[in-house]
Amino acid sequence: MKLYAPKYYKKFKCIADKCEHSCCIGWEIDIDSESLEKYKSLKNSYGADIINSISAEGTPHFRLCHGDRCPHLDEKGLCKIILNVGEDYLCHICREHPRFYNFTKVAEVGLGMSCREAARIILSSPDYDVFEVLGDVAAEDEEMHFDGREERQRLYALLRAVNADYPTKLASIYRKYGISAGEDGEWLEKINALEYLDPGHREMFACYSAKKRPLGMDAFLERALAYFIYRHCTEANDEEDFSCRLGFCLFCERLLASLAATENAKTVTELAVLASIISEEIEYCEDNTEALK
Ligand code: SF4
Repeated sequence: MKLYAPKYYKKFKCIADKCEHSCCIGWEIDIDSESLEKYKSLKNSYGADIINSISAEGTPHFRLCHGDRCPHLDEKGLCKIILNVGEDYLCHICREHPRFYNFTKVAEVGLGMSCREAARIILSSPDYDVFEVLGDVAAEDEEMHFDGREERQRLYALLRAVNADYPTKLASIYRKYGISAGEDGEWLEKINALEYLDPGHREMFACYSAKKRPLGMDAFLERALAYFIYRHCTEANDEEDFSCRLGFCLFCERLLASLAATENAKTVTELAVLASIISEEIEYCEDNTEALK
């Protein structure tokens, strides 16, 4: 099966010690069985440190240290597993982050916006609807009655219309898919009921209003919406499912617009920080994503 990626995908490289919000802090990383076996058979002196850092409670995972840091993150922000035994010994999650995959008639890979560097690249890339083949992957062809990829491209065509401004394009998308922005009060109740990694973000998200939009950020918000659509709509099972997923994406776009207006975000870097907070709190929590859908 061919593996496709948006054109901007290849621009990404983890910035490691230069990262201001490392994914090696705050997340408990589960270790896949293949990597666990590799760690057990390591002869290198760092092998014992790796084994001692693993908790076997539930799914094996690295036990977080002070400040919720990964035990293998050094004081300079570099990964001690890479430094001591090499990149080949990263477990599956660390090797893949921040990538995600869609499987339809083809395979697609994308970059998740919880990583601020990925978010900055996504928001800076106007060619979100241009894809290229990266290679082949071993995967079964999905038996599909509905092609979310084709529907997504039709949606992108609406977003790319050159003779309309962003608010007009958004309005035509809401109309075509029969979606309404709903009542602010109902969304605020849902926002309040979500689970949060950082409780301060509940308060931050309480600024939500469908009417709040920042000035001069339309191009970036369009790219953010295109990203949400790429990530969440492609694997839809049918038209109804596609509209439901799109409703979720449009909510995420409105929340980002509300945050940008409230926080007075002026640059792509400032918007990338807000997008990564939404991604971390909502997209990377299945329960939150389902509750909002
Ligand atoms: S958040 Fe992104 S740039 Fe930062 S350490 Fe993780 S993958 Fe690298």
